[in-house]
Amino acid sequence: MRGALGGPRVLLRRLREVMAEQVSAQERLDKIVVLIAANMVAEVCSVYVLRVDGTLELYATEGLNRDAVHLTVMRADEGLVGLVASEANAISLSDAQAHPAFSFRPETGEEIYHSFLGVPILRAGNTLGVLVVQNRAHRTYSEEEVEALQTTAMVLAEMIASGELSALARPGAEPVARHAVQLTGTPLAEGIALGHVVLHEPRVVVTNFIAEDVNKELKRLDDALATVRADLDTMLERRDMADGGEHREVLEAYRMFAQDHGWLRKLREAVSTGLTAEAGVERVHSDVRARMQRMTDPYLRDRLHDLEDLANRLMRVLMGRDHAPSKERLPENAILVARSMGPAALLDYDRKRLRGLVLEEGGLTSHVSIVARALGIATIGEVANATGLVEQGDAIIVDAIMGQVHVRPMPDVENAYAERVRFRARRQAQYHALRDRPCVTKDGEKIDLMLNAGLLIDLPHIAETGAVGIGLFRTELQFMVAATFPRTNEQHSLYRAVLEAAGKKPVTFRTLDIGGDKVLPYMRAVEEENPALGWRAIRLGLDRPGLLRSQIRALLRAAGGRDLKLMFPMVATVDEFDQAKAIVELELTHLRRHSHLLPERVEIGTMLEVPALLYQLDELFERVDFLSVGSNDLMQFLYAADRGNARVSARFNPISTPVLRILRDIADKGRQYKKSVTLCGELASKPIGALALVALGYRSLSLTPSAIGPVKAMLLDLHCGRAAEMLRSLIDQPVGSVAVHERLEAFATAEGLQL
Ligand code: PEP
Ligand code: MG
Repeated sequence: MRGALGGPRVLLRRLREVMAEQVSAQERLDKIVVLIAANMVAEVCSVYVLRVDGTLELYATEGLNRDAVHLTVMRADEGLVGLVASEANAISLSDAQAHPAFSFRPETGEEIYHSFLGVPILRAGNTLGVLVVQNRAHRTYSEEEVEALQTTAMVLAEMIASGELSALARPGAEPVARHAVQLTGTPLAEGIALGHVVLHEPRVVVTNFIAEDVNKELKRLDDALATVRADLDTMLERRDMADGGEHREVLEAYRMFAQDHGWLRKLREAVSTGLTAEAGVERVHSDVRARMQRMTDPYLRDRLHDLEDLANRLMRVLMGRDHAPSKERLPENAILVARSMGPAALLDYDRKRLRGLVLEEGGLTSHVSIVARALGIATIGEVANATGLVEQGDAIIVDAIMGQVHVRPMPDVENAYAERVRFRARRQAQYHALRDRPCVTKDGEKIDLMLNAGLLIDLPHIAETGAVGIGLFRTELQFMVAATFPRTNEQHSLYRAVLEAAGKKPVTFRTLDIGGDKVLPYMRAVEEENPALGWRAIRLGLDRPGLLRSQIRALLRAAGGRDLKLMFPMVATVDEFDQAKAIVELELTHLRRHSHLLPERVEIGTMLEVPALLYQLDELFERVDFLSVGSNDLMQFLYAADRGNARVSARFNPISTPVLRILRDIADKGRQYKKSVTLCGELASKPIGALALVALGYRSLSLTPSAIGPVKAMLLDLHCGRAAEMLRSLIDQPVGSVAVHERLEAFATAEGLQL
């Protein structure tokens, strides 16, 4: 049987009139259901709205008992309506009562209707409600009718998302759209931030849904598709793409989709129902997003992401504007929300206004988190569907301590957080007041607190924190945030700027630590089964000495006339250290021959990250000028537990007998050889870790900038001798007989130390 009186285009035109009328929200909804029912020749048309409590409430109906409106409430997994909502998929049945999910609500009087067509009301892939038509007769709804109802649902989605329906809701039962949501994720850069959402790659907001002239819209769609295809071809032909790589694969996937007949047909069908070209793309795209959220296969998810990106490109062409936010003109207190982001993109934003960052992807050791930490931007990663759940300008709170994101928070939540921010600011002011105080424990032990750094943006931290120097300068960061290999003169000018900013304070540069998880986008990656154990850091440097030599030359020249401290990453044997040191000597000879200004003094040391070095400590200390313990990698290799995989890395506690015995032995050996030993891993950046290290004899720690205040405050209150006595005797006891971490915490509490 054919329905559709006047077809979908007439319906959309009538809907536009109703949307423009000055009537109450309920009246508007009532008129809409009457219009849809008449247009689709259905006896029933109902709108169910998804509420914050996860249930579906009947908001309007034509044909069912009107008294049931706002009274009929169903669980989101109940009945056919629930099934449409939970699967975000249309369901069309000529005999609804025979379906196993059918559930009967006597108050609605729906038992007499046999056929059922329900479509999800979707916005950005999120279900906001369900739109249903029903017929008494056994009727098969045509594909065009399903399509038409989906198009109509899109108009309803805008109405729900506008917040217009909230006035009809009881407290606690508001529509889920535009309501407060709490999301969880993994803190990547500690901090708390309150502000407003800035979407890194904003969805294009469609404002004009209903076509004046469908043929014109179809032509616009075709033209836009042709432009996108031509753009992709140009990008793929560019010379710098010629040698392949991941980027090329992505573009090729886009090109494949852009020629996919199924996708093109869907777009044209959506526009044919009477939508503008951009609304048609949005319709199809919303379904893609809904599917993406239900997809568990990572490969397929990636392909859908590609398709989504392509749809975004198409939208931009159609809307004729670049919708990316102005990177310099951010609102005050901007919180960026992105699916993923590279470090260079983050650095493009005006950092004075940037407070927080929320990512759908991103791990603790990802480059963007390293940059976010350096910038002091509260950052949370692995927040599922973050970009789909927020709107540009929404109020948002990033709690990158507990790993929570509050979108459109309730006033009491906002007040509580505002108070926590004030509290943290007071603490920060207290730390700031300690800046110029020497770090000496109560019993007179001087502890050198230094900084971990790696970018120009880190340099102001030297003065701000009162650190006594830079204990670890990660030179690879400059390489990681660049789009191409930094030339020797670019390296030279960064090193020079670092030394100038540090003034008389010492800086320890670590030569390139690339490979493993530190990938350079422009360097052809070698496929490795275990990259952390692979061809990385000094191994790469020794096998391809050109890179290492030019870096060492840049460092030696930058430090002309002053002292230079240099160390190598991931050294596993003393022989590797000897070879690396020989390269430095070679470069010194070369520079001397060309009468360059040489450093006054060059000290050469090594990182201790590979456990094999623990059994070569005597030979090592005889050779090095200093040693720096990289507890991040040392822990990873000691326990064979990937530092980037939270499931295994959190399993092993560094404040435990085996690790502390090792750290003690290194410190003791350093003292025996009268060589300086620093610890520059994350362990030193936590007050409890710093307490353990100082108790074991470490007098030099290198920390993340934000940790200097808390660690210093703790050390100023510490009686080092008492801590040493307590901890050294604890770790002499058999493993398992004492809970070292708890005992150390109890000690801190008893001594009044702030951890
Ligand atoms: C370490 O391994 O502890 C370290 C400081 O180096 P990175 O974190 O850069 O690997
Ligand atoms: Mg390391």
